[in-house]
Amino acid sequence: MAGGVNSNFRLNISPTPLVFERGEGPYLYDVDGNKLIDYYLGMGPMILGHNPAALTAAVKTQIDSGILFAGQTAVEAEAARLVCEMVPSAERMRFGSSGSEVDQAALRVARAATGRQKVIKFEGHYHGWFDNVLWSTAPGLDAAGPYEAPKAVAGSKGQLADTAETLVVLPWNDLDLLEARLAKGDIAAVIMEAAMCNAGAVHPAAGYLEGVREACTRHGTILVFDEVITGFRLAPGGAQERFGVSPDLSTFGKAIANGFPVAAIAGRADLLDLFSTGGVVHGGTYNSQPIAMAATVATLKALQPSLYAGIDKTGTRLMSGMREIFQRAGVKASVEGFPQVFHVAFGLEEPATNYRDLARMDKQAYVAFTTALLRRGVRALERGAWFMSSEHDDAVIGQTLDVVEDAVRQIKA
Ligand code: PLP
Repeated sequence: MAGGVNSNFRLNISPTPLVFERGEGPYLYDVDGNKLIDYYLGMGPMILGHNPAALTAAVKTQIDSGILFAGQTAVEAEAARLVCEMVPSAERMRFGSSGSEVDQAALRVARAATGRQKVIKFEGHYHGWFDNVLWSTAPGLDAAGPYEAPKAVAGSKGQLADTAETLVVLPWNDLDLLEARLAKGDIAAVIMEAAMCNAGAVHPAAGYLEGVREACTRHGTILVFDEVITGFRLAPGGAQERFGVSPDLSTFGKAIANGFPVAAIAGRADLLDLFSTGGVVHGGTYNSQPIAMAATVATLKALQPSLYAGIDKTGTRLMSGMREIFQRAGVKASVEGFPQVFHVAFGLEEPATNYRDLARMDKQAYVAFTTALLRRGVRALERGAWFMSSEHDDAVIGQTLDVVEDAVRQIKA
């Protein structure tokens, strides 16, 4: 395996790529016999924790009926019904296999519906690893250009340079700049994480999402919420439910199936119907694979309001406990976001409002911190994100806070 891993996002993490044997509830067990409290949670999907019994039972039952049919199944219809019931803007939907793919589907539909080519994306927002969107996801500030007109900075060597011509990069959370660009009337879609959760965990400014919604409608632009992280995590209906703003299209992945490779695009019926009657192509051999659909149904049925209320309590305790520890130790750090997914940024005192604020965090010091946590049995993402599950109970949070206190002592020493 190139680099010993199968995703670049598992490469070069500190102190070394780990090899795991099994997961159970909030814990991971590696091949060296270490038991780790896990806040990676598969990079977001495992909102029910590792190996939830109802999900594994559903998957075991489904596998006895066959693996792949290239046709429709009752289990995918049930999964689709649950998505449409839970997601406020979902009049129609389609399943896919990864967040990257369904983001591509959304942009293709938006271009077909509007007859326009250009898409607005925001600095620091990640919409998958394909050429036309892997721009300005984590640019160095020296290369990023002026705040008002950020440069499109390529995320990878070998990326098709032409794709930047159909992309406009803007700072997120700034309605005036967005308004001014939309007014030219040539934008097919605005795509954004409605709460910025990949690079950090940043809330939309008061009135921002409502303003974006209204401006997109006025200028004939399709509004796409990329809910690959926020979907089924911030609320049963994702960020759009939490903030009460309805996109035209939204995309899902990660928590939709608690670790199975499932994604979805949902939204206005007239837009989704372009796949069936409007000549817009969307495919995928593994879309709605029955075993993954059984996992989706089991996950979505488990995502009751009480589960979010539980994580509200435990996540809030973890966030405030960490703030207190950093404050007592004199470590300058912001702990911001949501109880279900939050972000720790060393070197920041004020909550970040956009990517440029986040980019000023002290990454090196933070990696020293996560390395110290790992050596004490807590695994948290080196980029600052902490994902919570329903299995991280009060006892686990208490143990985590003890480890955080000890790790902070070490990095201060
Ligand atoms: N969109 C967002 C907001 C994401 O965080 C990710 C993955 O981290 C993606 C899209 C891409 O999803 P996938 O890795 O399933 O292709």
